[in-house]
Amino acid sequence: MFCHPPLRGNDGNSLRATIMRVNKDDLVVVLSGASRNKGATRDKRYRILTVDKENGMVTVEGVNVVQKAVRRSRRNPRGGMLSMEMPVAASNVQVVCPKCNKPTRVGARFSDDGAKYRICKKCNADISQIAPAKKKKVVNQ
Ligand SMILES: [Zn+2]
Repeated sequence: MFCHPPLRGNDGNSLRATIMRVNKDDLVVVLSGASRNKGATRDKRYRILTVDKENGMVTVEGVNVVQKAVRRSRRNPRGGMLSMEMPVAASNVQVVCPKCNKPTRVGARFSDDGAKYRICKKCNADISQIAPAKKKKVVNQ
């Protein structure tokens, strides 16, 4: 069995930040991880709430929800139980293509004007733009 060497950052210790192909407000399916035991199913689509690129984690609406006891405070005058989403590893979720409506791997492509797009590896449709088009020099004629 082939094993990848562990990814190390420049300091030799920290894990290198993984390339994140998920963005906020993407629809995803949950593939694996503890969150699946907490109500997530493979067929259901969830929305990404936050993306933590440094740790490779995402929080997903309705996935890995924990009950947290909070004291009375100005923000929560009554205190009590608060449910909140805990982060899950980004590798445990897969983006759902808005065009073909299937969970897919995400690729990238450049258009002619230099803009970068995320694309669906299944139907090659653009999912969203990553980088804007490069500005062209205006030539006076
Ligand atoms: Zn697609």
